[in-house]
Amino acid sequence: EAEGRGRDGAMLRHLLLKLRATGPVTVAEYMREALTNPGQGYYTRGGGIGESGDFVTSPEISQIFGELIGIWYISEWIATGKPKAFQLVELGPGRGTLTEDILRVFSQLASLLSKCDVSIHLVEVSPTLSESQALVLTGGKAQPGPEGESAYMKGISKTGVPIFWYRDLQDVPPGYSFYLAHEFFDALPIHKFQRTERGWREVLVDIDPEVPDQLRFVLSPSSTPATENFIQPEETRDHVEVCPDAGVIIQRLACRIEKDGGAALVADYGHDGTKTDTFRGFRNHKLHDVLRAPGTADLTADVDFSYLRKMTQGRTATLGPIRQREFLKNMGIDLRLQVLLQNSRDTAVREQLLHSYDMLMDPKKMGDCFNFFALLPHHRLTHPDEKHKPESKSPLPPVAGFGELLLK
Ligand code: SAH
Repeated sequence: EAEGRGRDGAMLRHLLLKLRATGPVTVAEYMREALTNPGQGYYTRGGGIGESGDFVTSPEISQIFGELIGIWYISEWIATGKPKAFQLVELGPGRGTLTEDILRVFSQLASLLSKCDVSIHLVEVSPTLSESQALVLTGGKAQPGPEGESAYMKGISKTGVPIFWYRDLQDVPPGYSFYLAHEFFDALPIHKFQRTERGWREVLVDIDPEVPDQLRFVLSPSSTPATENFIQPEETRDHVEVCPDAGVIIQRLACRIEKDGGAALVADYGHDGTKTDTFRGFRNHKLHDVLRAPGTADLTADVDFSYLRKMTQGRTATLGPIRQREFLKNMGIDLRLQVLLQNSRDTAVREQLLHSYDMLMDPKKMGDCFNFFALLPHHRLTHPDEKHKPESKSPLPPVAGFGELLLK
């Protein structure tokens, strides 16, 4: 019913017109249109995050998730000598739940942070989702950013922390910052390539000549500029997905961290340059044909962490990817669960806590397929002159989450 008619069909009609006028488009162009077209994109219209929507994410499952991430940032802040100010920059904050849980931790640790100037910077293209974030985080008391300023909206969190919204990472002011990207990189547009007898060909989206108003995949008749640029000569796979937008953003994060300090934490499903066809759609928590009813379903592809690592160009050190269940265990999820269970007498609440723990940690649920990956300044992991006189330096504090939790 959602195929060509009504509001749900608007994106398909738009794409059919475009394809008739210009011919096939890359999968990246198709994905960009379907997700973030300023009129009818899936995220532009609000996305379907949460139980009543199309997909549910870890921060929506349990408050513990965001709390442990908040502690990760505090731990890095302490390890780097408690700088006087930091910005927390979240890319693609969805419904704002993760930032809300992190802000609660910051507020509980207010005495520790009392001399630190903390601000929140959200990078969000969807006007609908930024409204939801403003409602959750400021109680609806956000205002449009003044003309000429880089933030399009600003407000104050319920806990008193200033919050700013931007469309692009480049609009966020420079400075010592902690970056967070949870289920963000998987939503960025990918190019797809197929090895053929005649060499690599890019996968494109075209109109199906057999079925009216239906889309299909075709292969480019010859190699495209993207084929030349993105396939490595030593590639052994037969099908490859590349996300250049993710590469550009990681490059920018690495430059900013190299220059101003801080850290980035990326959490997503993904692989280390080994998987092939991972492009898929979700609607109503079920797999959905990526070419059907564009704009009405979430489209996603696994993050290639080896590509992200490469795109830091050695400007920062990287840690991970490490599995979500290991990262959360190293961050002390078991202790946190025990405390919450002890504090609650309500059976329903206790059951909910155990159920959400299981969702996050079970290898068959979210425990194994989600990964954590971090960018850190080189000096955070190795003393600059370690090679010369290693014995004279005190050891650097370990980075939380990426090694076993040691309780003193
Ligand atoms: N981090 C949230 C939401 C994940 S969904 C969670 O885990 O629950 C992806 C988010 O990224 C949405 O908020 C979407 O609107 C945003 N987004 C997608 N493409 C974007 C882009 N190019 N720039 C900024 N935000 C984008």
